[in-house]
Amino acid sequence: MKLLLATRNKDKVIEIKEILKDLDVEIVSASQFPDMPDVIEDKDTIKGNSIKKATECAEYSNLLTIADDTGLFVDALNGNPGVFSARFAGEDCSYKDNRVKMLKEMKGKSNRNAQFRTVCAFVSPDGLIATTEGIVEGKITEEEFGNNGFGYDAIFKADETGRTFGEMTQTEKETISHRSRALNKMIPILEKYLINGVDHG
Ligand code: IMP
Repeated sequence: MKLLLATRNKDKVIEIKEILKDLDVEIVSASQFPDMPDVIEDKDTIKGNSIKKATECAEYSNLLTIADDTGLFVDALNGNPGVFSARFAGEDCSYKDNRVKMLKEMKGKSNRNAQFRTVCAFVSPDGLIATTEGIVEGKITEEEFGNNGFGYDAIFKADETGRTFGEMTQTEKETISHRSRALNKMIPILEKYLINGVDHG
């Protein structure tokens, strides 16, 4: 049985494959479907976008599909950038552009509380849609720390470790990250599906 990850983002594929490594499925990524149209992420919630990504990719590939959508929700910015985290510094911006903009907007702010939230969506071609959510609490730092990871990792200090994701190894990040929490909640749902299929009852 194949399971499609509805993303071409290599960083995410590495993380997700590691988290799902014990599942009895062959994991393939969207990069293996070069002609599959990119999904337009135009919903106003991360849940809406993750369901949209998984549904469109499952319809195209006819495979069991998992998608995830993540947002960084910063209290002092009224929950922004949230669903717009990828494009915070503008269309086609880099991860670095986003971090620079975040540090600038947060300059001088005393409340630095933030949350990473991921919603993971699992869609099967025979009609199952399931979602799970993972959250990690932290603070936006005043400068970058660490070179590991991607995105906002170097400026997000997790409350549970007192270090940024950029300072943690991939294995350390996986023990607490928003994405691994959402995916770990999805594992029993996937296992149940692989044994029983869709329960339409
Ligand atoms: P996506 O919707 O999951 O692609 O996430 C949106 C944006 O959030 C990405 O472009 C990254 O900038 C950021 N992001 C997502 N996951 C992470 C993470 O694990 N660490 C740091 N930044 C992330």
